[in-house]
Amino acid sequence: MGQLVERGHVLTHDPAEAEVLVVNTCSFIDPAKQESIDTIIEMAEHKKSGRARKLIVAGCLVERYRDQIRTELPEVDAVLGTNELERIVALCEGEQQGGGASEPYLYHDLTPRILATPRHYAYIKIAEGCDHPCSFCVIPQYRGKFRSRRFESVLAEATRLFGQGVREINLIGQDTTSYGEDLGIKDGLAQLMARLAQIETPHPKWIRFLYCYPNRITQKLLDTIAEHPALVKYIDMPLQHASAAVLKRMKRGSHGDFFLKLLERIRATIPGVAIRTSMIVGFPGETAADFQVLSDFVKAARFDRLGVFSYSDEDTSASFQLDAKVDGATIERRKRSLMSMQRRISRARNRALIGQEVDVLVEGLSEETDLLWKARMSTQAPEIDGICYVNDFGDAPPQTGQIRRMRITEAHDYDLIGALTDSTPTSMPLPNSDPFPILATTR
Ligand code: SF4
Repeated sequence: MGQLVERGHVLTHDPAEAEVLVVNTCSFIDPAKQESIDTIIEMAEHKKSGRARKLIVAGCLVERYRDQIRTELPEVDAVLGTNELERIVALCEGEQQGGGASEPYLYHDLTPRILATPRHYAYIKIAEGCDHPCSFCVIPQYRGKFRSRRFESVLAEATRLFGQGVREINLIGQDTTSYGEDLGIKDGLAQLMARLAQIETPHPKWIRFLYCYPNRITQKLLDTIAEHPALVKYIDMPLQHASAAVLKRMKRGSHGDFFLKLLERIRATIPGVAIRTSMIVGFPGETAADFQVLSDFVKAARFDRLGVFSYSDEDTSASFQLDAKVDGATIERRKRSLMSMQRRISRARNRALIGQEVDVLVEGLSEETDLLWKARMSTQAPEIDGICYVNDFGDAPPQTGQIRRMRITEAHDYDLIGALTDSTPTSMPLPNSDPFPILATTR
């Protein structure tokens, strides 16, 4: 988007208005593939009824099914793989389809960029690719070997984003905890977080990283998070399972007892930390006993947030070759059972928060009514965790992008309700003038 705007093009979220339609796709698992294909077909209709004269398909689906897209979706005019992003302008301006992937792509601080998120938070990709061999995962095949962005490049981008009014930065990558290893930097993520925490800003700031690999979490990293107030007390650590046998077949290793000790160490080092994880149920060979191990583990671990995913058999993954597949009904039953256990844990954890005062980042007016505003505690990551609803604004009405004090008054299974308590907000609202190139229409 940044490259197109820099070149003078205007972006729109309204496909009926667009002359060129770009569908950015995912192909991680079947539902993502299906959603991508459905969107391509839906967008192709605009070539008949709207102003569109070109349909470009970008992203992971292209890496995986480049030839099939070309032959089976004739309404698609061009495809753009994940390593070819520099060619987006030429394709939109009419260049004929070229030859395919070039060097592995990773953007840097000088790459023009437009935030697709609301202006008060942003994601920064600090690394691309992955060297882990998880047998269910196809990402390394399409994203390549792990490579980190340069330290100074990430700092420069974060400094610029904070300067533009962003309050919260979320560092992402397929494996953030390996950050810097390929550059020969020891404890690279801890060092990066410490430097980011020291960026001077005229407003409070939150910094977190997502998607860490459990056995890459060092004590230095935990100490660094505990030390700096700007570093959010939040660990997102997909564990995928707790049974040693399943984890071995997943080619991830480790076991539930090791994870419990790690959780204990994380909680002891970072008081008030919220821990998020995700699990896969129905992996080939997962027996009833394995699932019991997982259930017992989830009960004991008392995660603040838990995502449960049904195993998806992808034809290019190593686990596709494994025997003892679990049937769909069993997978669904196990998923529901784990989610209902977590719902009870989450509700109890939320109830324990009633009466506490916390900082919240104001997200905006609720879609349902003008009487509610949405906000997030720092321990609620954007787009994935629950949120807070503010129903009492005190003396100073909220404004999007402010960090405010809120007293928690009610608790639901995943969301919280609260009242603002600060009459003098500690942070100004975002400036009225938009610091980013303006999108023609907003979502
Ligand atoms: S660490 Fe994550 S991205 Fe890497 S192979 Fe495992 S699941 Fe895939």
